[in-house]
Amino acid sequence: VPVALPEFQLLRPRTLGEAVEMLARSGGSAGDGVKIIAGGTDLLPSLKQWLFTPRYLLDIQRVAGLTEFRWQPGEGLWLGAMTRVQRIATDDLIGREFAVLAEAAATIASPVLRNMGTLGGNLCLDTRCVWYNQSYLWRQSCGFCIKKDGSVCHVAPSGRRCWAAFSADMPPALLALEAEIEIASAGGLRRMRLAEFYTGKGEARIRLAADELVTRVLIPARSAGMRGRYRKLRVRGSIDYPLAGVAVVLRRENGHFAEGRVALTAVNPAPVLVSGIDDLLARAEPDKTEWVEEVVRRSNATAKPLTTSALTPDYRREIVKIYVRRALNECCGADHKEPA
Ligand SMILES: Cc1cc2nc3c(=O)[nH]c(=O)nc-3n(C[C@H](O)[C@H](O)[C@H](O)COP(=O)(O)OP(=O)(O)OC[C@H]3O[C@@H](n4cnc5c(N)ncnc54)[C@H](O)[C@@H]3O)c2cc1C
Ligand code: SF4
Repeated sequence: VPVALPEFQLLRPRTLGEAVEMLARSGGSAGDGVKIIAGGTDLLPSLKQWLFTPRYLLDIQRVAGLTEFRWQPGEGLWLGAMTRVQRIATDDLIGREFAVLAEAAATIASPVLRNMGTLGGNLCLDTRCVWYNQSYLWRQSCGFCIKKDGSVCHVAPSGRRCWAAFSADMPPALLALEAEIEIASAGGLRRMRLAEFYTGKGEARIRLAADELVTRVLIPARSAGMRGRYRKLRVRGSIDYPLAGVAVVLRRENGHFAEGRVALTAVNPAPVLVSGIDDLLARAEPDKTEWVEEVVRRSNATAKPLTTSALTPDYRREIVKIYVRRALNECCGADHKEPA
């Protein structure tokens, strides 16, 4: 019975070139080839549960350049994939210009895990499910499931796919800020909008080829200075993954709303932007509550929680509505009244 860590070889590149070459040479991250390890705060518990049995771990902690933290005027803020969560939660510039991200980072896990956990690991976090994030023996007793070692989904038994929930806190904040990511392979670098990075599939959550890794994130300068709020539901306030998370950003100019976005996490297999908010804001009367209720309605329609988590889908759905309403009202700094 597998009770200890599976055996693996540790690869420790010093440069990005070495890292992508090792990744390609050792079979890539598909199947049981290589697993990239950054802070290891999520990967190591998963290895102990035998959710992965890779032949190699590619430790990117020493790779030069992955801790970049640079404000580039006219372009935005570049953050290396190895930027620690704690830095993002406490940095003055981020707190001032991208408040929603600082708030989201501050809710992640616990102080020790925030010191170790990284931005790249958070963006690439595995999806979570009460039937999956368990010991080998526990999973074996249920006959395993589609995501690992089995053929049935206990959440949606008639289907053939995995609905595990994407449960990281920073991606919704970064979606709301219209962030981009940079990805490296032996073939070079490419950039994509973060909104295109997630697949919506619990079993294959991100659009990253087997020989690629995430190197940097760009938060565009045009998103600086927006009002922002992050609200999160969790069982233990001191240390827990989100069971529902809501990121809201809003910009007010000349008494009107110039732009705004709402993104959700932990209620779908991907973090998602609620669509159509800008159109609503263009028509919104800032002192009325109708538009707020319409955003709440659209957010509720976007959230599709299933029985993947400790709290029921109905409860998590209600909480999304409440958190979106509260976060919007706080961002408005206006006098919208919450309906009883
Ligand atoms: C008790 C506990 C509570 C937690 N609570 C929260 C929480 O509230 N909110 C939350 O969001 N997270 C939470 N986490 C998860 C985790 O601590 C954070 O998400 C952290 O930011 C992950 O970063 P890491 O560097 O440790 O990732 P790792 O564990 O090193 O990696 C995570 C995944 O990302 C991949 N990966 C890492 N870096 C890269 C890269 N540069 N390119 C490509 N793939 C990469 C790894 O291969 C792995 O699949 C919790 C973990 C624990 C153990
Ligand atoms: S959603 Fe289904 S397939 Fe996916 S981890 Fe949960 S039980 Fe397994």
